[in-house]
Amino acid sequence: MKRVKLIAPKRFIIEEVDIPKPALNEVLIKVKACGICGTDLHAYYGEHPFISYPIVLGHEFSGIIEETDEHVVVEPLLTCGKCYNCKIGRYNICNDLKVIGCQTDGAFAQYITVPINKVFSIPKDMSFEEATFIEPIAVGIHAIKKAGDIKGERIVIMGAGPIGLIILQLSKIFGVKEVIITDILNSRLKLAKELGANYAINVKEENLIEWVYNTFGRDGIDKVFECVGGDQNITINQAINLTRKGTRIILIGVFKRSLPIEINLIQDRELEIMGSLVYTSSDFSEAINLLYMKKINVNKLISNILPLERIEEAMKMLVEEKERYIKIILKPNDT
Ligand SMILES: [Zn+2]
Ligand SMILES: [Zn+2]
Repeated sequence: MKRVKLIAPKRFIIEEVDIPKPALNEVLIKVKACGICGTDLHAYYGEHPFISYPIVLGHEFSGIIEETDEHVVVEPLLTCGKCYNCKIGRYNICNDLKVIGCQTDGAFAQYITVPINKVFSIPKDMSFEEATFIEPIAVGIHAIKKAGDIKGERIVIMGAGPIGLIILQLSKIFGVKEVIITDILNSRLKLAKELGANYAINVKEENLIEWVYNTFGRDGIDKVFECVGGDQNITINQAINLTRKGTRIILIGVFKRSLPIEINLIQDRELEIMGSLVYTSSDFSEAINLLYMKKINVNKLISNILPLERIEEAMKMLVEEKERYIKIILKPNDT
């Protein structure tokens, strides 16, 4: 079988290797589709703090168990089962958490073996391409649960990438009154409007804090979802300043380093800063249901579908042509 290995930053090799043999408690999956995530991009450019080389990337995937003809997705979290948080069910923050496709070899390959208890069946009339979004939808569901009740609220979502656009749609399902979404790309803001955003603000053209105060006043924002991360503190400090006192800011974006933030205001305003990391199995099941019930439009997020061999080109499209490409799906078994 073919698989794509990242052996150093910006250096993929296509390998021909034996189809892996599942160990006890494992199952062999023929990978039908695998999404490229921001995490994969950071790893490709050598900017991810927790991914080392060589590695086969790819954690947003769907496929078939050929033996049983079952269509499946995989919750790609490998956990110790012994630490405090594993024992109380918060295994997403296991002390020894490993993500398939990040710390162990992933699904940019024609076949993969995974623990059987991480496999979820999907209906046969759900496309493999759509099913790759179950993982990022689960990320969004987990973040919304961290936010608490958002019914009737006005929220700000910072960042209209795949996760921001998914949280936008989920927040409507969970009953928010209004969503303000921000980005620096007009193409993404336009898409956000099509997907239900009430306001889409280009933060390159508009002073976000002033705009919020002028439009909604000092107490207008009930919660903020930060879906940008990166190596700057601009978004988090904006979040601290634009939201009403006593509210919650949920961090989903991955920050690449330690950053100074306005900690004095967090204390003074009784703000709650809440991190949100991946998901657990209940989020995953809920994601499958919401997608199957067509409550979330993922087809508008798919910018391109390419064979696995064109991975390098796909990575470049996502980084160099952000106006055009949001999510690219790779197909390892269709050539
Ligand atoms: Zn991802
Ligand atoms: Zn653990």
